Amino acid sequence: MSSTSTLTAPASTATSAEFLNFINGDFRPSSTGTTFENRSPVDGSLIGMVHEASADDVDEAVRAARAARAGAWGELSMPERSALLVSVADEIDRRFDDFLAAEMLDTGKPVSIASHIDIPRGAANFRVFADLVKNVPGEHFHLATPDGLGAANLQLHKPRGVIAVVCPWNLPLLLMTWKVGPALAWGNTVVVKPSEETPATATLLGEVMNDVGVPAGVYNVVHGFGPNSTGEFLTSHPGVDGITFTGETRTGSAIMKAASDGVRAVSMEMGGKNPGIIFADADLDEAVAGTARSAFANSGQVCLGTERVYVERPIFDEFVARLAERAQAMKIGDPDQPDTELGPLISEEHRQKVLGYYRTAVDEGATVVTGGGVPDVGDAHAKGAWIEPTIWTGLADDAAVVTEEIFGPCCHIRPFDTEDEVIQLANDTEYGLAATVWTTNLSRAHRVSSRLEVGLCWVNSWFLRDLRTSFGGMKSSGIGREGGAHSTEFYTEPTNVCIKL
Ligand code: NAD
Repeated sequence: MSSTSTLTAPASTATSAEFLNFINGDFRPSSTGTTFENRSPVDGSLIGMVHEASADDVDEAVRAARAARAGAWGELSMPERSALLVSVADEIDRRFDDFLAAEMLDTGKPVSIASHIDIPRGAANFRVFADLVKNVPGEHFHLATPDGLGAANLQLHKPRGVIAVVCPWNLPLLLMTWKVGPALAWGNTVVVKPSEETPATATLLGEVMNDVGVPAGVYNVVHGFGPNSTGEFLTSHPGVDGITFTGETRTGSAIMKAASDGVRAVSMEMGGKNPGIIFADADLDEAVAGTARSAFANSGQVCLGTERVYVERPIFDEFVARLAERAQAMKIGDPDQPDTELGPLISEEHRQKVLGYYRTAVDEGATVVTGGGVPDVGDAHAKGAWIEPTIWTGLADDAAVVTEEIFGPCCHIRPFDTEDEVIQLANDTEYGLAATVWTTNLSRAHRVSSRLEVGLCWVNSWFLRDLRTSFGGMKSSGIGREGGAHSTEFYTEPTNVCIKL
């Protein structure tokens, strides 16, 4: 199959790229000719123009996905599909540098993160689910009947159909393939709506799909915004059978309303205000290093990140001092340098939001232990969305900074005295995505993790992901679980076949 080159990661930001939609195997401009700018968060320069998909473009993408589902993709056997998805993973590996450059340009994230997490996981998401679908058992029950002959029940996993995949900007390739991998492995076709901030790697994946021979219409990409734009056109399209979404809770709520027309299924991975709990018996070196990662990695733009830290009183002062020391030592700046730890935030707009919280913290009476402002990264990067890692203490439990998701490199640290108290504090939130617990007491680790209202609890670690395990949140953080065999729930329609013997 031919692949039209649509995206060249510019060698210098002086050259700009165009980001086209990918519909039915072709790269296409917006049918209305509407484009919008994609700007670098590192220095504000223009990366390229993105073609906004109109309602007609979205309609074409959904139709192409339906046709491929009923045709070329639906006709492949599971092993054939699986083999193609392994080829997709291999091709991402082969074009690793292209994906890395594209992801770094869009997000400004340091090479140390993008090369170790984003791109390798992007490929792994295809490999893992290509393998998994061949190994998930279906249930079988023998039913005794009055005539003594019985009946056999067996479960089939049919693909759900056309899946809309609506993505955020914080881990663009990783979070998109986390949905596209299982969707395709189970035999669905997809229409992906990447974040307007990060169009590049989803577009590049279109080239990969063509190059390895994934049939046209199986993987489609439509660019644009949310309300009154591509996102809304896609999620309200009656030809979409299910919507899987990662992003803010209030966006998820709007998408659920759209999904209620036609009673379409949803899978929702949304916001968090995740607690980190450090007991006095923790390995302090590990707890400080782990909390520095969970609070500041990817400049705090990780849904699983820790924004509320609770430290048992005997070690409170020492922990605060050591975490502050670690924050101050973090290297901020040029994402291309291998030892850079913090890049900019995704955009100036997001920086204004996070800086707003930095001001609110002071207004609410916080002690600013470190940070609180904008770092000096030199003239070349002065127009980027840079921000300092920040630690506060001394806020009330109902302060905005302690209760609302900020999505920046910051955390509030508060002392606690008892296990019951800290569990109550940790659970006192509308969210329920993730928690971290640092302790060397195994019984306590079991006790506390079982009482935390979260979908994911890490003990003495953070972001350690086995892709076979369930992923998702409780309360306002999500609906449903994906990952491993749990992906079966959303990406398939189980059908029970009852055979009278
Ligand atoms: P967002 O909700 O602003 O946007 C996500 C996507 O939804 C974008 O593609 C956007 O264009 C689209 N969208 C917006 N409004 C829409 C509408 N009305 N209809 C259809 N589509 C619409 O989120 P973001 O700012 O891109 O990402 C950050 C958020 O994502 C944070 O809240 C973070 O916690 C969350 N997140 C959650 C997880 C998780 O696994 N739970 C993972 C990563 C990020």
